[in-house]
Amino acid sequence: MASLVDDLDTLLPQTQCGQCGFDGCRPYAQAMADGRADVNRCPPGGPQTIAALAQRLDRPARPLDPACGVHQPFRIALIDEEHCIGCTLCIQACPVDAILGANQSMHTVIEADCTGCELCVAPCPVDCITMVPADRDWTRADAQAARQRYQSRNARLSARHAESAGLAARTLANKPALATPSTTHDKQDRIAQALARARARRS
Ligand code: SF4
Ligand code: SF4
Ligand code: SF4
Repeated sequence: MASLVDDLDTLLPQTQCGQCGFDGCRPYAQAMADGRADVNRCPPGGPQTIAALAQRLDRPARPLDPACGVHQPFRIALIDEEHCIGCTLCIQACPVDAILGANQSMHTVIEADCTGCELCVAPCPVDCITMVPADRDWTRADAQAARQRYQSRNARLSARHAESAGLAARTLANKPALATPSTTHDKQDRIAQALARARARRS
């Protein structure tokens, strides 16, 4: 059964842009459900989203908090491919895998998958990413697809992290144990005993 947090999360645009002051849409949904945040903190969602959140929570709708940003028509990222140096920083920043490219090769935005979150703009060292008007509006279906891409990406990154951690642990386990003071002393004792036996045989 869907929880209140699920319901609120479903009403959010799923860009994961962080303008609400939370680390993505679901943490903001959780904060609203807990009574820690008001309904007017999502600039991409704008008045429509505020109204839907207020209705679900049975709270008054308020104007968008200007401290969070401004609501504007849907825009998407565009990469000036001639100036891209292929550093991959934008790919690492994109929460929904909407950028294609490889190290030292030109990068490009998959228009249909871009949520307009702008998270790729700041990391670009050569300022070759700009936000341009999209020729469509952001829909609830777009938001659902974006959430799936976000979750898939997180699952992939977690699996990679776990694999790296496992590899590091196995490498450590396979290393010869470092000599501890006691093993060092044992070794010195055995050498001393062997020398004593050799001396005894010679005498
Ligand atoms: S889309 Fe709205 S709720 Fe989601 S992270 Fe951005 S501001 Fe927060
Ligand atoms: S391409 Fe840029 S603006 Fe578009 S979703 Fe990815 S990070 Fe956000
Ligand atoms: S961050 Fe900028 S320069 Fe680096 S790959 Fe992306 S678009 Fe190209």
